Order: sequence, then C-alpha cells, then structure tokens
Amino acid sequence: LFVAFEGGEGSGKTTQSRLLAIWLRDQGFDVVQTREPGATKVGMRLRAILLDAAHQGLSARSEAMLYAADRAEHVEKVIRPALQRGTTVISDRYVDSSLAYQGAGRSLDSGEVVRINAWATGGLVPDLTVLIDVPPSVGLRRIASAADRIEAEPMDFHERVRREFRGLAAADPERYLVVDGTLPQQEVSRLIQDRVREILPD
Ligand code: C5P
Ligand code: MG
Repeated sequence: LFVAFEGGEGSGKTTQSRLLAIWLRDQGFDVVQTREPGATKVGMRLRAILLDAAHQGLSARSEAMLYAADRAEHVEKVIRPALQRGTTVISDRYVDSSLAYQGAGRSLDSGEVVRINAWATGGLVPDLTVLIDVPPSVGLRRIASAADRIEAEPMDFHERVRREFRGLAAADPERYLVVDGTLPQQEVSRLIQDRVREILPD
C-alpha cells in the first residue's frame, strides 16, 4: 500500500503522515514513513541544492529535473523495495508536488512535467493521495521559518500551487482524499484514517 500526502506549505502533511504511520503500526502493519525531497543520500544533497535561498532564480527546467532525479532515487532505493516486501509506504510529497510547484507554480507545461516524472518513477502511482488543503495565507502563517526559496515566493505562486493540487484531486476522486487542513489536527487524522481503512488489506 502506497499513500502520498500532498499540500502547500504549513498544511500539516508531515504531522499527518506521522500520525497515520503510528496508527497503522498500532494495527500491526509494517510502515516506512518517507518524504521528498531528500529521503536518500543523494536526495539529501539535492534537497540542499533545491532549498538553498542562494539558488533563487534556478531555471525552472533545471529545478524540475532535480526534483525528478530526487524522486527517481527515492522510488528505486526506498519506495519500490519497501512495497515489494509488503511494507506500507507513506510519503510526505510525491509527483503531484512537481505538477503543482514546477508545473503550475513555475508555469512549465504540465504534460511535460507528467512525462519526466512518469519516466523518473517508472510509472509508480500511489494507491491513495491525501491532499491536505489550506489557504496559503493560513499555511504560511503556520510555518515560522519562512527561510527557504519556495516560502519566499509571492502569494500568487502559492495560489497557483493550491489550485493545481485541487484540480488534480477533483479529476480523480477515486485516488484522492481532500481534507480541510484548517480543521483540528485530530479531526484531520480521523478523516484520513476513515479513508485508509477502506483500502487496507485484511
Ligand atoms: O515539504 P517540505 O516543506 O519539506 O518541502 C520543502 C520545500 O520544497 C517546500 O518549500 C516546497 O514548497 C518545495 N518543493 C517544491 N517542489 C516540489 C517539492 C517541494 O518546490 N516538487
Ligand atoms: Mg517547507
């Protein structure tokens, strides 16, 4: 079982992916909780490059390729091996983040972003993608740091990102759960558990 969490800055993906991992482990499932970018050795170096505020102005195509490279490494070294041994994988961000940030955010052609990522992942698609939806104004207020490149982007960048995430989810309701991330944390985790329960193997 492969579950991805998506959403903008400060939406609560990291917290909710951790809570879901705990809930699943309590039921006896083996769980790998992972994230993008930066889940592998090389990925950590790519993350450092990608998030360095000194790299403001990195070309959009270059950025998209580096995220895709991080993801290829992530899939091959972490996600696929775990799935193959029957472990549940929970990833904080996956391909949709590239469609939202590099596609909609940086105005790259969405079909091209889809293609490089389909190639990078060998076509691996999550069983469920949980979109935690919060207005950018709320999310950005939640994160104290606001120091990396993306958090320094203008509000309309974050609005485009949010709109893309919501559009992706609306186009494929079978594979997505959209949760209102402004709800209390416990409420959000309960809604996620209710949906995951439906797709758990016996
Ligand atoms: O999720 P996390 O906060 O660790 O992501 C790090 C940063 O990378 C965020 O600011 C996020 O917006 C950005 N990012 C991106 N494109 C991706 C994935 C993450 O711009 N595909
Ligand atoms: Mg961040």
